[in-house]
Amino acid sequence: MQIFLLKKKFIVIFIALFLIFLLVFLYFQPSFSFAFELTTNAILDNNFKEKLSTLTKNDEKYAYLTFDDGPTLKATGKILDILKEEQVKATFFVIGKYVKNHPELVKRAFNEGHYIANHGYSHNNARLYESDSSFIQEIQDTDAEIGKALGIDNYCSHVFRFPNGYMSSSYKSQKKHAIELLSKLNYVYVDWNCLNNDSVKKYSNYQLLDNLKKSASNKGTLIVLMHDSSDVNDTPSVLKDSISYLKSQGYEFRNFYDCL
Ligand SMILES: [Zn+2]
Repeated sequence: MQIFLLKKKFIVIFIALFLIFLLVFLYFQPSFSFAFELTTNAILDNNFKEKLSTLTKNDEKYAYLTFDDGPTLKATGKILDILKEEQVKATFFVIGKYVKNHPELVKRAFNEGHYIANHGYSHNNARLYESDSSFIQEIQDTDAEIGKALGIDNYCSHVFRFPNGYMSSSYKSQKKHAIELLSKLNYVYVDWNCLNNDSVKKYSNYQLLDNLKKSASNKGTLIVLMHDSSDVNDTPSVLKDSISYLKSQGYEFRNFYDCL
């Protein structure tokens, strides 16, 4: 009888431990699987570059929200709160020198399932394009800061966004050449095809939302540019309505992990 009770107790403890393990695993699972891919040792899947560069040519209603120029005390926390509430996973193109100032914000974004991508260390084009080595240094220094924040050795985000975008007219030839350097670093770059102009000039929230609606109209998959800085407009205050609008238009939210 005593042996039977002991066995029963053992089984109950075993099941309880298994359930706790399962819950912990499910909670942290995104970080585990992401960490595996995001190092300099990981070779990008051959299809990844192709997938990223053709995303906006798809008719499927997927929206990839991207937030540039953070992390910042003014905006990042608020953006993360809203994304959590709305159960949306996004991508943050972070600036290395700001990651150094606020590693905890990057760590939080990563742990909550957002993709942490590279936007250069200084956001200073003169410095970025000074030479091949300065360009490479900007990418690697940013990865090093992200890696430090996340506790991942040899972190490599594999995705870069040029300050002001590849499509902008400034530094055209330098950017064209930089694509070769990115490729050697096992990197791809991505622009956007939808924006609310939140960094261009001061708008009312109504206008920001209207900018987004106009920019998204008649498009399939969207890569939406917004800013994680609140320098010009208070982007977090229009984010909830922007997400609601895109949901009402049938959009499903994704981030770049879905392409890996
Ligand atoms: Zn930027």
